[in-house]
Amino acid sequence: MKTVQDYIRTIPDFPHAGILFRDVTTLFGDPRGFRMAVDQMLHPFTGQRIDKVAGLEARGFILGGAVAHQLGVGFVPIRKKGKLPWKTIEQDYALEYGTATVEVHEDAIAPGERVLLIDDLIATGGTAEAGIKLIQRLQGEVVACSFVIDLPDLGGRKLLENMGMTVHALCT
Ligand code: 5GP
Repeated sequence: MKTVQDYIRTIPDFPHAGILFRDVTTLFGDPRGFRMAVDQMLHPFTGQRIDKVAGLEARGFILGGAVAHQLGVGFVPIRKKGKLPWKTIEQDYALEYGTATVEVHEDAIAPGERVLLIDDLIATGGTAEAGIKLIQRLQGEVVACSFVIDLPDLGGRKLLENMGMTVHALCT
């Protein structure tokens, strides 16, 4: 039987020479693969209270929307700067060269709400860390961070665990 990992395609030299890009469009495009990934992301949270699912742009929207639907809770998009139409709070984070900024609507999460943060992949952890900070600044509680893929050599999981986060990944 195929595993989630079997549906992920690896593209050498994208977006730059020397980078091995993990392409999840092949996972999302397969009905069994996509369902398996969403079901496995949900599994650790059976019986736990989750009030919202937050997804990181863009592939975190695809997974997070499906997970939120299954849990019967609302979905919160954490977007790149300049895309959200209402009042936002923003958070900078470091990239390999320079910085980037993500935003969330200031009324997207109510104080005390328990939030599951979702993205397709964790590498250095910078993107997820910025998402966690936004949720915490709105006084939400991050229940856990869940990814399809963890690239452990890049240290993101350790970074989040050192922040006190619970981290789940379907494959490394
Ligand atoms: P980090 O901030 O942890 O260094 O990078 C993770 C972010 O970059 C995620 O939002 C993820 O979607 C994207 N990313 C980085 N490398 C890859 C990759 O090889 N495949 C995919 N699908 N996303 C990647």
